[in-house]
Amino acid sequence: MELCEQSAFVLHQMLVSKEISCREILLSLLNRIHSRDLNAYITLFEEEALKEAERVDQQIKRGEDLSPWTGIPLAVKDNICIQGKPTTCGSKILTSFQPPYDASVISKLKEKDCLFIGKTNMDEFAMGSSNENSHYHPVRNPWDPTRVPGGSSGGSVAAVASGQAIWALGSDTGGSIRQPASFCGVVGLKPTYGRVSRYGLVAFASSLDQIGPIARTVQDCALLLEAIAGYDSLDSTSLDRPVPLYSTNLKREMQGMKMGIPREFFGEGLDSKVEERIRFAIHQLEEAGVEPLEISLPHTEYAIATYYLIATAEASSNLARYDGVRYGYRTKSFRDLYEMQSKTRQEGFGDEVKRRIMLGTYALSAGYYEAYYGRAQKARTLIRRDFDQAFEKVDFILTPTAPTQAFKIGEKIEDPLQMYLSDIYTVSPSLAGVPALSLPLDIPKDGLPIGLQFIGKTLEEEKLLQIAFACEEMKILDNSISS
Ligand code: GLN
Repeated sequence: MELCEQSAFVLHQMLVSKEISCREILLSLLNRIHSRDLNAYITLFEEEALKEAERVDQQIKRGEDLSPWTGIPLAVKDNICIQGKPTTCGSKILTSFQPPYDASVISKLKEKDCLFIGKTNMDEFAMGSSNENSHYHPVRNPWDPTRVPGGSSGGSVAAVASGQAIWALGSDTGGSIRQPASFCGVVGLKPTYGRVSRYGLVAFASSLDQIGPIARTVQDCALLLEAIAGYDSLDSTSLDRPVPLYSTNLKREMQGMKMGIPREFFGEGLDSKVEERIRFAIHQLEEAGVEPLEISLPHTEYAIATYYLIATAEASSNLARYDGVRYGYRTKSFRDLYEMQSKTRQEGFGDEVKRRIMLGTYALSAGYYEAYYGRAQKARTLIRRDFDQAFEKVDFILTPTAPTQAFKIGEKIEDPLQMYLSDIYTVSPSLAGVPALSLPLDIPKDGLPIGLQFIGKTLEEEKLLQIAFACEEMKILDNSISS
């Protein structure tokens, strides 16, 4: 196995035992990046990363202690700010933007000596499910380059799945970590809302956005979450709760646990091949001593409509700041301020972003506010209550992550509704604010990954990781890599 295909956990041990150098890890990754063009990165920090690797190697030579994160190359979604580095959000409107500060997750990782390899491609402002909405062109699925990697964290996920990053940060508003993780066969976790600071994450829909880890193993996913979780006074929605040692607490039996299987998640629109594989996984878990219980989340049918009202309403407000005055792109010729702003936005935003701004502005407009935004908020409360009630009976909920496997590039781009339906199983946990993890199952004969979604109670990331880890040990899944 090449170094770029190893887990962070193993690489750390190899660094400690001086079997390998940090430079060797990095060169292995860079070689993979340059030999296989998936368009996963928007910006690469090649020279800086090599210098940083040199610094880590000196540290090793001097016999200094290494943290488990030291020198392990990480890819960062391009909507998370790194001081002085381009942060485009996949948009033309932010082409020249270089944030003057670090996101809190980045400060935490810098303290731990993590090595940043680059910023990854994404759907513009994280709006999309296929990465085709990026101003920097689509990312390709490493398992089949004619297919999408999913979105919006498609670059981060494709990089991890193909050995172009050891692990990565993504962001998830309605499925943007989990759905691509399912399409590319990696582990992706959306934490509880408030578990990870949003400070320095460019806002899409602030009541839903969360940063989360993407990795090839559950243990790496746990380790990365451990590094970024925790209270932050710079984010007013941050939760002030201790952070468990997710990565060291992983050994736990699943025996006797109760898993909820929501009947609404196995209906119309679910591809038969995906359903078959998920049902087989349920059977395997049952064999391992987990008790399945059919449950109902009765308001699931409203989830997509609710999500697309709330997310667009919040986006229309959050994106008002891109006015050509303060930062980013500005149109070249204009007569007055009004024309400057409208031309800047017209030229700077892509079609999907404009569609969302219009939908959101409409939902919030006088006369329609109660009928759309107000009702969506009420439906959100009902969806959240469905989860509260379900968790009185079960330890976790199990569903498919996405209704299909990765689809073809171009297949859904002309049909926004079909594209939105790709999030049908991921938006509900986002609306409820609860954590959810996508775990890859072994790769089927057609070579396209399928993900299993585990949904947990508020702040029970630890339990989700333990269950996923137990599944990994049982080899329900296979952490294959697409080289
Ligand atoms: N695909 C969903 C959307 O387009 C979710 C995006 C996300 O989670 N950032 O809104």
